Amino acid sequence: TTRLVVVGASLAGLRAVEAARKTGFTGSITLIGAEDHLPYDRPPLSKAFLDAGADRQSELAYRDLAGLQELDVELVLGAPATGLDTEQRTVAVDGTSVGYDSVVLATGARARTLPGTEALAGVRTLRTLDDARAVRSALDAGARTVVIGAGFIGSEVASGARKRGLDVTVVEALPTPLVRAIGEQMGVACSALHAANGTDLRCGVAVEAIEGESAVERVRLSDGTVLPADLVVVGVGASPATDWLDGSGLQLDNGIVCDSTLWTGVPGVYAAGDVCRWRNPLFDRTMRLEHWTSAAEQGALAARNALDPDAATPYSTVPYFWSDWYDTRIQFVGVPDADEIEVIGDVGSGRFVALYRGGDRLIGALALNRQADIMKYRGLIMKETPWTAALDFARAREAKRVQ
Ligand code: FAD
Repeated sequence: TTRLVVVGASLAGLRAVEAARKTGFTGSITLIGAEDHLPYDRPPLSKAFLDAGADRQSELAYRDLAGLQELDVELVLGAPATGLDTEQRTVAVDGTSVGYDSVVLATGARARTLPGTEALAGVRTLRTLDDARAVRSALDAGARTVVIGAGFIGSEVASGARKRGLDVTVVEALPTPLVRAIGEQMGVACSALHAANGTDLRCGVAVEAIEGESAVERVRLSDGTVLPADLVVVGVGASPATDWLDGSGLQLDNGIVCDSTLWTGVPGVYAAGDVCRWRNPLFDRTMRLEHWTSAAEQGALAARNALDPDAATPYSTVPYFWSDWYDTRIQFVGVPDADEIEVIGDVGSGRFVALYRGGDRLIGALALNRQADIMKYRGLIMKETPWTAALDFARAREAKRVQ
C-alpha cells in the first residue's frame, strides 16, 4: 500500500490515520470528512457542552491543526465522499476522484429525524457540533423543552435542561425505555432517575404532531396532551451513513457488512466505527455498535489490517458504553439479552451493579455510580466466566463494601 484513504473524519477515521502512522506507514494518507470541523469528540455534546458557559469547541477537537499536520495527512474537509469505485479503486469527492490502495470507511451514523418536522425552527437532532450549538443556545434562552425518545442522548439532554432549572418533558413511545440497550428491568430502574430529578417522563404515548408557524410552539401527543415547547430534541436513534455507497457493490445491511477483521470482502476496503457491522468472535454474532470505545479501537485496527492484510487480526470485544444522567454515571458492558438479571446492591440507593446471565455464563453488567467495578466485569465477560463464579465475585465485592 502506498495510498491510504480514510472516509469520515471523526473518531474512527482519526484513529485509523494515527494507527497507520504508528505502524510506520510512510505512504500518502487522505482524510475525507463531510463536516467543516477538525475531528472532535461527540460524547460531551449532550453532556458538559450543554451546560451554561463559554463555547468549548477547541476542547472538543482531538488534535488542533498542527497536531493533525504532524500526521502528514491531507485533509479534505467540508466535502462528503459521494461514491466508491472498487474496480478503479477511487473515492469520488468534490467532483474529483481520489485513488487508493487501501481505504477505511468510517462515515459513522446520522441522527434519525421525524419526517415533516425538519423545516420547523426549534426542532433539532443532536449528532454534530452544529446541532449541539443550536440546542445549547435554545437552552440559554430558557426554552421549554420536549425531548422525543428516552434513549441515552435524549435522557442526557433532559438532564442538561434540568441542571439549568428548565421544565422538560420526555416522550417515549415504548412502555419502557432502553429495553433494547439494557433490558426491561434496568430500563425501568434507569428511567426512575428522570422522575427523581424533576423530569416529566411519559411512556407509551406517541407524538401525533409538532406544531407551530415557523418555529415550534407545541407538541401534540396521542393521548390528547398538548405540550407547549420552544425546543424539541428528537432522540430517536441513528442510522449508519451508507447511502453514498449504494451501487458500490459492498454488502450493506444496517451498516457495512464486514468479517471479524473489519474487511468488507472487497480487496483493500475496510470499515470501522458506527457504520461497521462486523462479526464479533467473542459472542459469535454480527454487531454494529454506536459506542465511543469500539469506534476508536476499530478505527485503529481497520488501518492496521488494511495495511497488512496477511497479518490481519480479528476485533473481538466486550461492548462498553457510558452515559451521564444528572449525578449518575451509567455504564454497561457486554450484551443485554439476558435469561436472568441479578442486582448486587440496592437499586433504590442509586449505586448498584446488575449482572446479566446468558446460559451459564456472565454476558453483561450494568453499573450505576460504580465506576471502579465495571471494567472488572468486562474482564470476566471477556474470559467467558461462568455465571456462578461471576456472582460469587460480585457478592464478595459487595460484602467488602458493606463492612
Ligand atoms: P461519527 O462520529 O458518526 O463520525 C462519522 C463522520 O463521518 C462524521 O463527521 C460525518 O459527517 C462523516 N461522514 C458521513 N458521511 C460522509 C461521507 N459520505 N463522506 C465523508 N464524511 C462523511 N458513546 C459512548 O460510548 N458514550 C457516550 O457517552 C456517548 N455519548 C454520545 C453523545 C452524542 C451526542 C453522540 C452523537 C454520540 C455519543 N456516543 C457515545 C457515541 C460515539 O460518539 C460514537 O460511537 C462515535 O462518535 C462514533 O465514531 P465514528 O467515527 O464511527 O462516527
